[in-house]
Amino acid sequence: MHKEDHPLGLDKATLIPRDEHTVSRRHISDNALSVLRKLDSAGFQGYLVGGGVRDLLLEKRPKDFDIATDATPEELRSLFRNSRIIGRRFKIVHLRYGREIIEATTFRAPHDVAVELGENSSRKGIRNLDSAHSTAGMILRDNVYGNVDEDALRRDFTVNALYYRTTDFAILDFSTGMQDLKDRKIRMIGDPAERYKEDPVRMLRALRFSAKLDFDIEEETLKPINELAYLLESISPARLFDETIKLLASGQAEATFALLQKYQPGNYLFAPTLRALLTRFKARDNAAELLQLALKNTDNRLAEGKSVTPAFLYAALLWPVVKLKLELNSLPKLNAAQQFNVAANSALAEQLTYTSIPKRFTQVTKEIWEMQARLETRNRRAAEGAYDHPRFRAAYDFLLLREDGGENLGGVGSWWTEFQEASAEERENMLEQLPREQKPKRKARRRKPARKEN
Ligand code: ATP
Ligand code: MG
Repeated sequence: MHKEDHPLGLDKATLIPRDEHTVSRRHISDNALSVLRKLDSAGFQGYLVGGGVRDLLLEKRPKDFDIATDATPEELRSLFRNSRIIGRRFKIVHLRYGREIIEATTFRAPHDVAVELGENSSRKGIRNLDSAHSTAGMILRDNVYGNVDEDALRRDFTVNALYYRTTDFAILDFSTGMQDLKDRKIRMIGDPAERYKEDPVRMLRALRFSAKLDFDIEEETLKPINELAYLLESISPARLFDETIKLLASGQAEATFALLQKYQPGNYLFAPTLRALLTRFKARDNAAELLQLALKNTDNRLAEGKSVTPAFLYAALLWPVVKLKLELNSLPKLNAAQQFNVAANSALAEQLTYTSIPKRFTQVTKEIWEMQARLETRNRRAAEGAYDHPRFRAAYDFLLLREDGGENLGGVGSWWTEFQEASAEERENMLEQLPREQKPKRKARRRKPARKEN
């Protein structure tokens, strides 16, 4: 390794040449490689950065490939037809290749407070519209562009700030990323408290990477986390939803959730009833157990290359909340289905003030819940209806989860397992054996006298 002598801030990097690291082009997506080639031939710098480099060095398969470049978002737009500028606070460019999205970001520079205030500044060509802080030090806009070395210092953790380039296949390390990777440490670049104040979501990211990579959080990086957790109150529910999904779909949901319960930042993702059920009233309705199983199930599915949906995750998280609400808010004028609906809506509404779950997911969450009663009903019509429902599979998986979590449903789960594996003839037999549907007894209703109109 040696310090590279180069303009554009590259002199500040430790350069790890190709024969001293294990990142190989073979493990990088062809699309990411082609983006890097195209940037290079257009005269721009381009680096693979973030999880792509970090995970390859750890011999893990990266979730996605992020690229850092000196091309501005607008230049990227004109260079790549398949591109879209996303975000205002922090502009990134999405390059779409079928199902794969490559994220390209322009090198960020430190914020010049004088520029933000509209005072004279040494930085030319920068308008104060591109950068903004709140009085609490939170970064409101981060679109001031700079060099690669400045970009490295704007990133969160040292292991996320390793830059790989395809011009000579070297890795550039501007902080202590390579060493921290060896020591398995999550270390914040710069002053941790300041960096959390700039963007409180970094606290959740520290917990996520620690669980996902099985790294320790370095002492100074960990220290301010409980004290500053309250700053997450200022993060929009939409961003907290995105972050929750990343936390739970990390492949290490169980370990991640344990950290979310151990440290304060976890409290800003879940509504109070759910938190109470997971901490003080763990045993109630097997809330903790059901959740644990759902998390394990999520990790297993991801390990098998299957997808997980936020709808199912929230169905499991909030199921004990629905049951509790059902019990507490008995509304005598409503029938069972209506009562259930009120409880389900209330559980979702409470959670939505923390994480704004998009409607396409909450819709499915509700369907999974509503299907439970149908799957439990032992009669032909309900069974046939449930089996034909587009949400059958998810609802059935959820039913098994409830049973595994200790709910006694009279073995209805294995009935459905058998039913799905049976031949058409056997199925018919199974349906035949179900108790006849009980017609609801009709009460003799007395007609009300017609109201007088006046
Ligand atoms: P993964 O994609 O595996 O979840 P990642 O490290 O690639 O992990 P991304 O969210 O894809 O994480 O972000 C890519 C990179 O952008 C990060 O590695 C980090 O360098 C930088 N980054 C992302 N979010 C922040 C943030 N809130 N503050 C500072 N840097 C960030
Ligand atoms: Mg990434």
